[in-house]
Amino acid sequence: MSNKFVGAHVSASGGVYNAPLNAMEIGAKAFALFTKNQRQWVAKPLDGETIEKFKENLQKSGILPKHVLPHDSYLINLGHPEVEKLEKSRAAFIDELERCAQLGLDRLNFHPGSHLAKVSKKDKENREVMQPIEDKCLDVIAESINIALDKTSGVSAVIENTAGQGSNLGWRFEHLAHIIDKVEDKSRIGICIDTCHMFTAGYDIRTREAYDATWSEFDKIVGFKYLMGMHLNDSKPPLGSHVDRHHSLGKGEIGLDAFRFIMNDERMNDIPLILETIDETIWKEEIELLYSFENK
Ligand SMILES: [Zn+2]
Ligand SMILES: [Zn+2]
Repeated sequence: MSNKFVGAHVSASGGVYNAPLNAMEIGAKAFALFTKNQRQWVAKPLDGETIEKFKENLQKSGILPKHVLPHDSYLINLGHPEVEKLEKSRAAFIDELERCAQLGLDRLNFHPGSHLAKVSKKDKENREVMQPIEDKCLDVIAESINIALDKTSGVSAVIENTAGQGSNLGWRFEHLAHIIDKVEDKSRIGICIDTCHMFTAGYDIRTREAYDATWSEFDKIVGFKYLMGMHLNDSKPPLGSHVDRHHSLGKGEIGLDAFRFIMNDERMNDIPLILETIDETIWKEEIELLYSFENK
């Protein structure tokens, strides 16, 4: 029996209850989904029938709730510098957590947030100038998480590392550690590492040496006990480019070795490993490919 739970971010169109069926069709043992339209602020609440159907189909799929990694709306920015928009984001985030709880799920994946400061970050000097802005924003994000966890129960907030595009924070392991440090309930905070984001943020995983060094840095700064999911994506842009463009496995700059290392790394056991690669017509093959890497 494999201890790896690989799947993809499947469609929930027509209703969230379709997601487990879509996962089954591609041979997935895990999946991600949006529980509402990811480009809209408001969604109608989940009704009892929808919730029951979701739970039924999840059971049918044989996929455990802990191997489902819902993703929140792209509009939410828990570090927004403007009060009104921050409030809107916090309310929407709480709604997302509640939807997960209603569906019987235990984790919600989200992007930490952006400070939106119009400061260029061309060189080291500018980076230093931005440091206080970054720290302030990370504090605001942590406060947002504290408020949301306080108002909900049963669902962990899982922070996704970013590529560091624009003013997005969460691309350095130190950012993730900073947020976790300020979250009061450490039993409900986790991390999702996206391999494409990790790579374009400057963390190499292409060779055995680089892979080991990157993950030991992660363990030292953040800690594996917080790893609650991963996104398995190859990358179109090169190492350290801070550009977020996914690619199909083996077709980008990362290459297949990194995914072979992951499939044989017991630190990634029992968590959802989710493809967000660009060609969904080959997800079934990509899942098979990943499982074929085990014990090799
Ligand atoms: Zn994401
Ligand atoms: Zn991702």
